[in-house]
Amino acid sequence: MGNFILVVTTLLLYSATTTSQSLNLISDKFQNDTESLELASTDYGHIFNETPDAVFQPTSPNDIKTLIQIANDDKYFGTTSPLASIAPRGQGHSVRGQAMARRGIVVNMTSLARHGNNNYNIGIKVVKENFHLGPYVDVGGEQIWIDVLRDTLKHSLSPVSWTDYLYITVGGTLSNAGISGQTFRFGPQISSVHEMDVITGKGDLVTCSRNNASELFYAVLGGLGQFGIITRARIALAPAPTRVKWVRLFYNDFLAFKKDQEKLISKNGRKEKNGVDYLEGFLLMRQGPLDLSFYPTADQLRITSLVTQSGIVYSIELAKYYDDSTQNSVDKDLQILLDQLSFVPGFGFVKDVTYEDFLNRVQSEEEKLRELQRWEIPHPWLNLFVPESQVSDFNSGVFKGILLNQSVPMGVFIIYPMNRNKWDVKMSAVIPEEDVFYTIGLLHSSSYSEWEAIDEVNKQILQFCHDAGIQAKQYLPHYEAQQDWMDHFGAKWKHFQQMKTQFDPKKILSPGQKIFSNL
Ligand code: FAD
Repeated sequence: MGNFILVVTTLLLYSATTTSQSLNLISDKFQNDTESLELASTDYGHIFNETPDAVFQPTSPNDIKTLIQIANDDKYFGTTSPLASIAPRGQGHSVRGQAMARRGIVVNMTSLARHGNNNYNIGIKVVKENFHLGPYVDVGGEQIWIDVLRDTLKHSLSPVSWTDYLYITVGGTLSNAGISGQTFRFGPQISSVHEMDVITGKGDLVTCSRNNASELFYAVLGGLGQFGIITRARIALAPAPTRVKWVRLFYNDFLAFKKDQEKLISKNGRKEKNGVDYLEGFLLMRQGPLDLSFYPTADQLRITSLVTQSGIVYSIELAKYYDDSTQNSVDKDLQILLDQLSFVPGFGFVKDVTYEDFLNRVQSEEEKLRELQRWEIPHPWLNLFVPESQVSDFNSGVFKGILLNQSVPMGVFIIYPMNRNKWDVKMSAVIPEEDVFYTIGLLHSSSYSEWEAIDEVNKQILQFCHDAGIQAKQYLPHYEAQQDWMDHFGAKWKHFQQMKTQFDPKKILSPGQKIFSNL
């Protein structure tokens, strides 16, 4: 803890030499008790473990600004100081240490949420109508999406693009992209952002948008926390539906599954009435585990038989939203859609739920897993974006060739397509070149003794993609070597580097991504 005490002492000295009162205020916002350090040195992955020197508990964005300004002052702090590595941590739901800072400072963003809506903190503020932007919500970067949903629903409004799981922060998902079954139509969550307040790695608080400080705006969205800390995001809203027809369809033929998924995402106009509102897909594999809780008990046996016979069953998951004005037509509209698809006859299942329950569907899984003590365990995940033209090769080489032959228990495997034209390629997020690409999430959970074996399988999959010339890009990427990052960003690398030099020249921020340092 020597370094930490040095920092705090120097901070106090520093504040004695300056007129700014705010400097005095932050010296007591560092914590280095065991509980705080332990929380900041783990994440949802339970694979990496890096202990910071201290956890910073801001009560306002100004505290963060002061911290970063001090970290930039060569008079007091050099590269060996804990302030040379500062990682904002949202909910710590990364899986490979991305929000950690070994021997540095972790900024606990949730501390802002604890201090609520006040003059300093944004909280969640809904604006029901704006002449230029329509309805929008201003949210603090530390806010979690479930709270954004609940607060906007009070006004019968809602963001249009989501993640599957809502207990993660706005800043954390906007640093990646934020994808789910609405992405094919509305783009990732980063496409719904009008404006942000960002504290750059130099300690400047900048309001940025497409028209103002646009370089920072584009860099930060999908920027893996490298350029600044998002303290506010202005997110577009739309009228919220009230209920959802939630559908699952089974296929035992991959090409039929793929064809139908692509047919469904081709109806993707923002105001499209004849299409689906959400589209994902996942695998059921004979090794299991098979979670059949969605399906009527009477059907569970025949579903198990289909999976056992087929080895792999591909399931389209789609949703059609409705409200009072469409409740009389929704069943008919859904039937018209289903009639165009070629799933296995008799293997279509529909549930009717509220919009909030649909969006918050993963939380009930979390509750079940927590009860079984299977939530806080290793998650050696691999998420890839695969070009449409190569996804059939991925199916034969990886799903059938590698995963079906494993003896280790399998996780949740998701696969669904998205439209490239719904992404803004000026943003930092990296996607394949083709018009349609698939997200493939191999969401493993494992015991502490098994994760390394699963990670070996992940390496085998990446090697297969490399050997087969599959131009896959990692989502929620993790690399150890800079060369791999250069390959990942490809043509975007040079610009990404320039933006780092411009906005975080001392390479202070989010060191756990291991892009510019190995800390
Ligand atoms: P953290 O893990 O705390 O941080 C992630 C990165 O962002 C770190 O580098 C951190 O330094 C940086 N960061 C954090 N806050 C800020 C900020 N305010 N400003 C700048 N940088 C910041 N993702 C999807 O896209 N779609 C999904 O459907 C989806 N489902 C998921 C389901 C589960 C169960 C889990 C665990 C994750 C899922 N994710 C999904 C991934 C998730 O979006 C990312 O891991 C996200 O980063 C988690 O947010 P967080 O608040 O926990 O971020």
